Amino acid sequence: MEKWQYQMQNQINTIDKLVEIINITDAEREAIITTNTKWGTTPYFAQLMDRDNPDCPIRKQVIPSLKEKENRYGIDNYLVYKENRSTVEKRPDTIARQYHDRIAFTVMHICANYCRHCFRKELVVDESLQLRFDIDEGLDWIRDHAEIRDVLITGGDPLLLPDEKIAYLVNKLREIPHIEIIRFGSRVPIVLPQRITKDLLKALGGFHKVPIWLNTQCNHAKEITEHTAKAVYDLLTCGVNVGNQAVLLKGINDDRESFKTLHQKLLTIRVRPYYVFYCEPAPGIDHFRTPVEKGAELIRDALRGHTTGLAQPMYVVATNMGKIPLMPDYYIQDKNSDSYTLRNYRGCVTTLPNIPR
Ligand code: SF4
Repeated sequence: MEKWQYQMQNQINTIDKLVEIINITDAEREAIITTNTKWGTTPYFAQLMDRDNPDCPIRKQVIPSLKEKENRYGIDNYLVYKENRSTVEKRPDTIARQYHDRIAFTVMHICANYCRHCFRKELVVDESLQLRFDIDEGLDWIRDHAEIRDVLITGGDPLLLPDEKIAYLVNKLREIPHIEIIRFGSRVPIVLPQRITKDLLKALGGFHKVPIWLNTQCNHAKEITEHTAKAVYDLLTCGVNVGNQAVLLKGINDDRESFKTLHQKLLTIRVRPYYVFYCEPAPGIDHFRTPVEKGAELIRDALRGHTTGLAQPMYVVATNMGKIPLMPDYYIQDKNSDSYTLRNYRGCVTTLPNIPR
């Protein structure tokens, strides 16, 4: 058995397995028993949890919380609303569309880690949203829509499909003349780096005019290990570009130190920070959500000017109308017909001559 399949077949998803790894608290035990939710992670990722500290950033992403029962701000049927699934355009279940030229292609609902903050909870955790994962039907729809140039393959985690299915999907997409890039959204490099096998690389890799971009989700520097670094290196050397889409999570990465360290450490394993997402208003995840401004403040106070420009993600709020970037609004302090007054990350002010329009 391949190591990654062993990891999946031996997911840590019962209290008995969990207590072999960490000392669980009474609250964690009660949450697991009473929230009646799908949860679990790979033995690999579970080993990264702090044995005694319930505030461990990995532990909070893995173990259900009693706070999931609270839902003051979450939007019911969030995924249907967010992905415009009830619009007039008729699309297969696998196709979600918010833009003219690109779509999300949802190919499965299984994950290696059932992230407690997931906005796709309805599909992957609660399973209240059941989709028909007919890949050929999705491919036909894409083939019929010549305006689609960019396909994001998502899930669940699409890299948990068998190698042959991934190869089929990639090859079929590459045969469609209007497809220019293929993207994967996958937490596998972080929660199951063993999945980046030679056979998978064969399915994804090699030079092709339709490149593959993989965006993973790493939310805290503690999630990065030498196994992650190797998996990323293998992806890059076979021609797959790797970026990160972190989620801003209260109590996990919403302090300056964690935020900066995460983005700096990503660069050390060759991952380019791409987005930081505001934690979306799905039901039962209020406890992970910060005020909207927080992400822009962190970029201003922890990244911009404080570290290399390569470590700067774009902070975005993903909405039902697409992503809305929110960047720190502190540069232009004043302007008149002669000059701009600008402020840098240290709060120092300088001026720049204005150019008439
Ligand atoms: S891996 Fe992605 S889809 Fe799966 S639970 Fe985590 S955030 Fe949700």
